[in-house]
Amino acid sequence: MTENAQIWLGNGWSVQVLFSRGGLSTSILVSLDSGTYLLLDCGDGCLRDLVSQGTDLHRLDAILLTHGHFDHVGGLHSLLGYMRMIGRNTPFIILTPHKAREDKLIIDAFTTVYPDSVPFDIPRREVKGGEEIKLGDIKVTPFDVIHCGSTKQGGIGEPLPALGYLLQYHGERVVYTGDCGLDSKLEPYISEADLLIIEATLNEPGGEMEERVHLSLESAQRFAASAKKAFIIHRPGGLPPVEVGG
Ligand SMILES: [Zn+2]
Repeated sequence: MTENAQIWLGNGWSVQVLFSRGGLSTSILVSLDSGTYLLLDCGDGCLRDLVSQGTDLHRLDAILLTHGHFDHVGGLHSLLGYMRMIGRNTPFIILTPHKAREDKLIIDAFTTVYPDSVPFDIPRREVKGGEEIKLGDIKVTPFDVIHCGSTKQGGIGEPLPALGYLLQYHGERVVYTGDCGLDSKLEPYISEADLLIIEATLNEPGGEMEERVHLSLESAQRFAASAKKAFIIHRPGGLPPVEVGG
């Protein structure tokens, strides 16, 4: 967690961006007043952030993954290892995009190394855009987004299995876009959201990078204007997150 951590207080729940920087790590904690938690993505360092602020990892009910890039799943092995160490024995669930591979391979490696000593089940459910999922009293609706990988040596790759999530609880709507390009159909989910968490990785708008890989700050601010409040995250190195609205 950094001094830039962003917090939204809703009706019986709250959302906290533990940390987010593009190409480094993103993790967002959803806390219910009932004392349970959900995690949106689990980038490197999320275990450190959760434990250092006293989050009870016996009560983490679900991890919702947007896609398999390292800066969104890199902390998964640490989380599983910690929960094994503390003897967590209650179930939790991992939601992940249909055909995502990275988290599956991390979980497979973990359960292969510790075949007989993990005291909790790790149900993993691949989900598709438009499904409706109940996690306790929260209604979760994943939605498809366009997000391609991009590397220096390989340029822009093919679209990945990638989702955003709409969470509904006590009549409020929280939307997290994950990583997404402009070709994603975001508008129906974003409009009038109580909280929008949206990425803005690019310094310059336009081009194929913005259509298929990441949003610019300019575009993210345009989307943010249609929500009641927005956290603009996943900023490139050193640039602070931005808050929009009341
Ligand atoms: Zn990504």
